[in-house]
Amino acid sequence: MYNPKSLKAEEFISHEEILDTLAYADANKDNMELINSILAKAEERKGLSHREASVLLACEDEGVTERMYALAEQIKKDFYGNRIVMFAPLYLSNYCVNGCVYCPYHLKNKHIARKKLTQEEVRKEVIALQDMGHKRLAIEAGEHPVENPIEYILECIDTIYSIKHKNGAIRRVNVNIAATTVENYKKLHDAGIGTYILFQETYHKESYEKLHPTGPKHDYAYHTEAMDRAMEGGIDDVGLGVLFGLELYRYELAGLLMHAEHLEAVHGVGPHTISVPRLKRADDIDPDQFDNGISDDIFAKLCALIRISVPYTGMIVSTRESQAVREKVIRLGVSQISGASRTSVGGYTEEERPHDSEQFDVSDQRTLDEVVCWLMKMGYIPSFCTACYREGRTGDRFMSLCKSGQIQNCCHPNALITLKEFLEDYASEETRKIGEEMIAKELLTIPNEKVRGIASKYINEIVDGKRDFRF
Ligand code: SAM
Repeated sequence: MYNPKSLKAEEFISHEEILDTLAYADANKDNMELINSILAKAEERKGLSHREASVLLACEDEGVTERMYALAEQIKKDFYGNRIVMFAPLYLSNYCVNGCVYCPYHLKNKHIARKKLTQEEVRKEVIALQDMGHKRLAIEAGEHPVENPIEYILECIDTIYSIKHKNGAIRRVNVNIAATTVENYKKLHDAGIGTYILFQETYHKESYEKLHPTGPKHDYAYHTEAMDRAMEGGIDDVGLGVLFGLELYRYELAGLLMHAEHLEAVHGVGPHTISVPRLKRADDIDPDQFDNGISDDIFAKLCALIRISVPYTGMIVSTRESQAVREKVIRLGVSQISGASRTSVGGYTEEERPHDSEQFDVSDQRTLDEVVCWLMKMGYIPSFCTACYREGRTGDRFMSLCKSGQIQNCCHPNALITLKEFLEDYASEETRKIGEEMIAKELLTIPNEKVRGIASKYINEIVDGKRDFRF
């Protein structure tokens, strides 16, 4: 009954199709002829199907893994250049009616501090984030129809966009809240959100139901079909993700790619981003209680495979991962990372990192300035760009920009302009020095002469105090 065009969760994420895929992958994991033909197809940069990717995942040949890594790195360079987009999560409320067994916000956790930001507190958090240099946020909230109804989320979005503090501004608000109705997605769309993000957690229905024993999130079909409702509500950019550690990673990769194939088949555009969170220790959560944790090597292989399977989809790695792991996977195709994140409600206005209302332990605890400096030392341009969605380049319009190869004349100068803003307004001496050298060098690589000229002009005007230029 597998049908990528169906709107029914169990038909576009068919359990039987995943089992067949895994059996096919096992049967062919040493079939070098097939593996070489899959790699050759991936080299054409047109992506891979869930079956093809699953064969590569099952293959344990080190030479094949090396070829996959090299290709992932090359595809990243070709499509995304050396830019890494920066963002931070903003936790609005940890009130939640769900029973997710891996998340400390679950209803039965009676000792975690429950908090919900008032609009004044949202203001303070946003100012703290702006003062670090952030321009792009992902708002996060538990699911609670009384404490966090859609009106509350919309009010917070309004507040966030309205705050202008010094030269600060939040120019894109992505939203990570529980699955909701088409009507509510329309409201989020009208509020001007960027990407709607919803992690599937696991594509395995039976496990999903056990991991979400109570609350509205228990409904597998409602959760899995959320992206179709979001798109029906007018949201062009949606972000998928799996919480690795809950189920078998091979099952999840097949499910994730089938979900992407489904969105492409039905809406003509795949996911805007894919996130790859791994389960972390948290208040009353011990990751060792879950059997499916994955090693750093498997994690890297998954990142590389996602990059070559869906070349036009951004990939996000959060501060759940350590500096060392991030260093490894950024190379393999990650396009967006968070920096200086606090995963507690109200965490950005506290001097010390608070743990009482935290969602999970943060491995990478560096400041935004440190993360920016580290990226540049590795040769990456930290980008605070939010231009695409503000220029209406969402959904398939963004994908065509990506496919047209015009990114070097658009995203690249935008990255340099927004980096320049960061250097002027928020950077330390060291970061500033490295950044200025990077901008001078990278400006020369803008192919179009006219664009190069305009970008240089904008950069000079930023020194004179002007802000918010974009291509
Ligand atoms: N409550 C919303 C929902 O139901 O989708 C989303 C917001 S939640 C703050 C964001 C994500 O954090 C979840 O989708 C889950 O994948 C992840 N998460 C929950 N517990 C986690 C843990 N212990 N370690 C790492 N990530 C976790």
